[in-house]
This record gives sequence, C-alpha cells and structure tokens, in this order.
Amino acid sequence: MTRFDLAVIGGGINGCGIARDAAGRGLAVCLCEMDDLASGTSSRSTGLIHGGLRYLEYYDFRLVRESLREREVLLGIAPHVVQPLRIVLPYRRGLRPAWLLRLGLFIYDHIGGRKRLPPTRMLDLARDPAGIPLKPRKFRTGFAFSDCRADDARLVVLNARDAADRGAAIRTRTKVVMARRHDRHWEITVEDQASRRRDIIAARALVNATGPWVEETLASCLGVQPPAHRRARLVKGIHIVVPQLFDHGGAYMFQNSDGRFIFALPHEGAHTLIGTTERDFSGNPAEVAAAAEEIQYLCDAVSEYFAQRVCATDVVRSYAGVRPLYDDRVGDAAAATRDYVLELDAPPEGAPLLSVFGGKITTHRRLAEVALDRLAPFLPSPNRHRAGWTAFATLPGGAACEAAALAQKLASDYPFLEPSHRGRLAATYGERAQRILAGARTTADLGRAFGATLTEAEVRYLMAEEFARTAADVLWRRTKLGLAFSDNDAAALDRFMAVASAPQTAR
Ligand code: FAD
Repeated sequence: MTRFDLAVIGGGINGCGIARDAAGRGLAVCLCEMDDLASGTSSRSTGLIHGGLRYLEYYDFRLVRESLREREVLLGIAPHVVQPLRIVLPYRRGLRPAWLLRLGLFIYDHIGGRKRLPPTRMLDLARDPAGIPLKPRKFRTGFAFSDCRADDARLVVLNARDAADRGAAIRTRTKVVMARRHDRHWEITVEDQASRRRDIIAARALVNATGPWVEETLASCLGVQPPAHRRARLVKGIHIVVPQLFDHGGAYMFQNSDGRFIFALPHEGAHTLIGTTERDFSGNPAEVAAAAEEIQYLCDAVSEYFAQRVCATDVVRSYAGVRPLYDDRVGDAAAATRDYVLELDAPPEGAPLLSVFGGKITTHRRLAEVALDRLAPFLPSPNRHRAGWTAFATLPGGAACEAAALAQKLASDYPFLEPSHRGRLAATYGERAQRILAGARTTADLGRAFGATLTEAEVRYLMAEEFARTAADVLWRRTKLGLAFSDNDAAALDRFMAVASAPQTAR
C-alpha cells in the first residue's frame, strides 16, 4: 500500500491548489480525480479573476478584499494566463442610481491593494468606442473599471502540473470509492475508471475537494452521517457563446431589470461569451445542461443593451456548471455567499478530514493556504517551503513575462509561426511554449496539423506533461479550440491520441 501524508479527492481548482501548496511544503501528496482535471465546475466559470463588485451589495467586504488581493497575486504568478480586463458598466435609468455605482466602484478600487491595474474612469458613451455596439442614445454614461480574466481550466492544470513537478502524484480518471479511518491513517480505495482496477492507498490526512459532489462524497465514500441541515447549496449557472458583438477588447457588465448583473466578454477570436444565471440545482452535477428558457433569459438580458438583437438561434455553444456554495440559508440563490468554509473533522484518535465548501477560481490559492494551515498540526513539517510560498512562486510557464511580450520573442525565434498561432501558444503555455516548439524550423517540424493551429507537437506535449487523454481534454480544457473543430476533426484527434498513448509492442 502506497503511503502519503495527504490525499486530495477532486481535481478542480481547489483540489489542485491544495495539492500544489502541500507538495511545495514538502509533503507527500496524492490527488485523485474521477474524470479529467477541471471537468467539473472549474471549466464552466465566467473566467473572471475578480473581487466581485456585486458582493459589495451584500456587505461581503472580507471576500471582496481577499479576492482583489488574490487578483494582484495571480497577475504576478501567472502573467501568461491572467490578463487585465477593462469592464464597461453602462448607467441605466431606473435601476441602481449613478451615485451608488460610483460609490461601489470607489470602494472596489481602494479596498484590495490595487497596484497594477488602472482605476475606474467615467465614460461618455456617445463618444467612447465602448458606446458603439450599444443601443444609440439609450446609454449616455458609463464606468470603465478594472478586473482580470483567465482560462479557468488552464489555471487548474497549471496547479496540477506544478504539484507534480514538486513530487505530487496526480491520478486522473481515478475515483475515490471509499475511505475509512484506520489506526490514525486513512485507507482510501481508488478505482481506475478505464480498467475498473481497485487499489488502496494510505494517507495521514484527507481533503474532500469534490465541489458540487462534496456532500455526496461525505455520505457515500466516507460514511459520514449527514448533519441535520445541508451545508452545500448547489446553484446552477449557464453561459452562451454567440458570434462577436464587439471588438474593442474590453467587456461589459450589464444591470438586468431583475437586479442581477450579466457579463458579455470577448471570447476565442470572433465570439462573445454571455453569462450567467443563478438557479438552485438538484441532481447529478455531471449531467447539468443549459435549458432553453435560461438561454432565452440571457439573450433577452443583453438585447436590452446591444443595438443588435441576440436570439437563441445565434447561440453557437452553451455550457452549464454548478456552483458548490456554502449554504448560509439566505432565500435567493444570487445572494448566497461566494465565500468559502473549510470544515475540519479531527477526532482525538483518528486521522483528520477537511471538507471544502464554496470558494471561487479567484480565491483558490488563498483557500489552499488556509486549508494547509488548518491541517498543519496533523502533518509532518519537512521544512521545505513555508506557508505562503505560493504567493511568490510562478505557475508553470509564468516566469518570463506577459503573453504579448512572449509572443514577440516567439516571433523572432520561430518566424514561420502565424501571429495567431504564436499568440495562442504564448497565452496558453507561457515560456513552456518553447518545450513544444524546441528545434522546429518549419511548420512541418511540428508534425501532423489537426486544424485551428493545433499540431502533433502540442498534442504530444499535452499528453506527456498536462495529463490529457482525450480530444475533449485537449479541445475544451487544455485549450479552448473546440469551437473551431467539427465532430469529425475531434474524432480524428481522439483516434490519434488513442494510438499515441497505446503501449508500444515489441516487433
Ligand atoms: P470542481 O471544479 O467541481 O472540482 C471537483 C472535482 O471533484 C470534479 O472535477 C469531480 O470530477 C471530482 N470528484 C467528485 N467526486 C469524486 C470522487 N469520488 N473521486 C475523485 N474525484 C471526484 N469563480 C470565479 O472566480 N470567477 C468567475 O468568473 C466564476 N464564474 C462562475 C460562473 C459559473 C456559472 C459557475 C458555476 C461558477 C463560477 N465561478 C467563478 C466559481 C468557480 O467556478 C467554482 O467555485 C470552482 O470552480 C469550484 O471548484 P472546485 O474545485 O471546488 O470544484
């Protein structure tokens, strides 16, 4: 039986963040993910690395401050995948008054130690380029404020890669089916989802970071009696992707007439991403999907603002996710806290279990730090990195510089690459793009071309270094190239990956 200090169940942003922090502190770590990394909620977010302006309305100052601080930290440790974003908030008569928006944005600019991003500016939408896509004469003023965005699934994979670089075992397609306390350890039964082979590992401490599955894991895998009240509140949110509605590089945050906010963001070249919704959810999180009325709701909401009406027939893709929120028993799903709660169960004679409720992509690093601090009394202290090290150590590929500067360097080192190709590689892999391109002098040197600038060299890198096994892993979670791939092209990629991963037989 292989023994670890810490076992983590769940390869979403929180599980991978915790595995990374623990491995860097010198602990022996094993992370098990039943599907692909980020296949749960962590690839279905809006992708904002933000303080959450709207949480100020719920007086959630602690969360906003911490999230804004994390925004700065993530910009520093992952400058290739976290990009500054200007968001335009048009003033709309009859909804929140302009003075309230101004006050909220003033607080937002000042409570989180903003250093790298520009402050809020008032806009004359009759003259500013951000006014052009909007309904003429309806929105005269607005505010442009700063936040950031990132590819959510890439942040997950980079955390997992870094954890593995620091010694963690990352086991994807491996489900934890049972865990029991035994002699101050956990004995954990894991099942390979391809072969159905079972194996037992031991760990001194266990983390349940299974997101929307957190309560199911407690009840069915860990045999923990459910308490009288639920602690997880599952709230579904959907997004739609439509052909590009604006091209000035910024984004919009629209006030909807029901009091909610809707975002419209630039997305994968010539598209716009619109989201999101908030509805209580029950059922299997793996089967969540956008309903027709939710798609219509988003189309109607943004059509209040854009000159061009958005219809359900314009939607080229929709996706849904389930927020695993901590249940603070407020009535409205939109008002439920986005803060995280870590529940530690450490009986005097037994090994500790830490369960994660809530959290955001934005706060994952800090959540991991708090989780490890809570578990520290139960774990050895091998004295490698100290608590807090993740605030300064760059994620894989992030050491050199921002994506734009790196794309320029790739242009001089690999002049045969198309600008869109080198820009994508820089923003996806940072300086590790060099590992994909090493030695290439022509496009042909990168091997088979699968379409949309995806080459064999990149796919082989993703299989060897980033735990990718299927076309869906590559097209929707390691990259977001899926929109540019037909079903046939994706099937061809799947076939290639199956052959490439098959064990070589001796001739
Ligand atoms: P998950 O990502 O769901 O990971 C849990 C993992 O556990 C899954 O991969 C699952 O397969 C695995 N698992 C479950 N059971 C087992 C088992 N028995 N064995 C092994 N593995 C198991 N946050 C932001 O910061 N910014 C945003 O803009 C933002 N927008 C959002 C928009 C929407 C619509 C939604 C739904 C969320 C948004 N969030 C945002 C929140 C954020 O996405 C989530 O808080 C975060 O992804 C949760 O991560 P997690 O690791 O807890 O859960």
